[in-house]
Amino acid sequence: MEVRVANVRKEFDRFPALRDVSLDIKSGELIALLGPSGSGKTTLLRLIAGLERPTRGNIFFGEEDASHKSIQERNVGFVFQHYALFRHMTVADNIGFGLKVRHGPTRPSAQEIRRRASELLDLVQLSGLEKRYPAQLSGGQRQRVALARAMAIEPRVLLLDEPFGALDAQVRRELRRWLRDIHDTTGHTTVFVTHDQEEALELADRVVVMSQGRIEQVGTADDIYDTPNSPFVYGFIGESSSVPVKVEDGQVWIADRPIGLSAPQAPEGQATLFFRPHDVELVDGCSGCIAGTVAASRRVAGTRRVELEIGGERQRVEIELPVDHPAAQKSRVAFRPRRWKLFPAA
Ligand code: ADP
Ligand code: MG
Repeated sequence: MEVRVANVRKEFDRFPALRDVSLDIKSGELIALLGPSGSGKTTLLRLIAGLERPTRGNIFFGEEDASHKSIQERNVGFVFQHYALFRHMTVADNIGFGLKVRHGPTRPSAQEIRRRASELLDLVQLSGLEKRYPAQLSGGQRQRVALARAMAIEPRVLLLDEPFGALDAQVRRELRRWLRDIHDTTGHTTVFVTHDQEEALELADRVVVMSQGRIEQVGTADDIYDTPNSPFVYGFIGESSSVPVKVEDGQVWIADRPIGLSAPQAPEGQATLFFRPHDVELVDGCSGCIAGTVAASRRVAGTRRVELEIGGERQRVEIELPVDHPAAQKSRVAFRPRRWKLFPAA
C-alpha cells in the first residue's frame, strides 16, 4: 500500500510537533524515520496510524484520503518500544488476538486463527514457543512476538516505533538483519522509527532525516551519507568537520589563502565548508590546501583519526590518516577535502 503524507502540520496546544511535512512512501518499501529525540518521528507515525489527526494536511492510503479514518479502518499493524504483550495470554493467543476480536464474518475460525499464529511463529523463528507466556521469553523474543501479532491482521502498513530500542546492542543488530529478511519475504510497506543512524542506514531502503518537526532529507543510505543537503544532516549522520571560509573569485579561502577548492556557483562572501574526516587527500607542499598542526591523534580500528589545529582561532578539524602515518604531536599536516560542500554562513 502506498502512503502519501501531504503538507501535514500537527500542533499540540499550539506547539508545532510537525511543520508542513510531505512524504511519499512506496508500496513494499521499508522506510526509516531518523532524527534526534523530539524531532517528530513518533508524531508522524501516529498520524499515519490514525492515533492522531493532522491539524492541517492529509494522509492518503493509495488513492483514498485516510486522514479521518480510524485506526481499524486503516488496518495498520503497530509495534512500540515498550508495547507489552498481554501477560496473561500465551504467545499463540497474543498473536491471534487481533483476529479473535474481529466481529462477524471477518473473524476467522478458531482453527484458522491457530493455523495463522503458528505460521507467523515460523516466520519470526519462534516455532515451538506458542504455549509460553511473555514472562518466559527474552526481550528480543518478545519483540518478535509483537511483530508477529502486528502482522497477523494482514495490515496494509506496518508501523514500528523504536521496536528494538530497549534491547542491548548485540540483540538489536541481530534483530535488524532478521527484520530485513522478514521484510524481504513478506513485502509489507513498513515505516520504522529510530534515533539510531546505524540501524536506519543498514535497514532501510530509504531514510527520512527529521529535525524539529521538519524533514531535512530523504534518500538512500548512500545519498544521505555521501551528499548531505544541510548542515544538520552533515552533523547528525556520520562525522564531519566544518570550517568558516569565504568565497571570492570562485575560490574557497580560509583567512587570506585559497585552499585549492573552486566553487564557481557559490555566492561570494562568508560560508561554512563541510567535509567528512575520510573524504580528504594529503598533499605535500601547500599552495592551495588546508594545513594545520596535529593537536590530538587516536587509533580508530584500521585508521588514525587526527585533530588538526588550523589557523589562529583555535579552529580544529578532524581528518583520517593511514595508520602508518606518524602524525606526531605538533607536526604539520596539509590536506584537501575530496568531497565537500559549502553552506551559507550561519
Ligand atoms: P520523537 O518521536 O522524534 O522523539 P515526538 O513526535 O514524540 O518526537 O515529539 C515531537 C514533539 O512534540 C516533542 O517536542 C514533544 O514534546 C511534542 N509532543 C508529542 N506528543 C505530544 C502530546 N501528546 N502533547 C504535547 N506535546 C507533544
Ligand atoms: Mg518517539
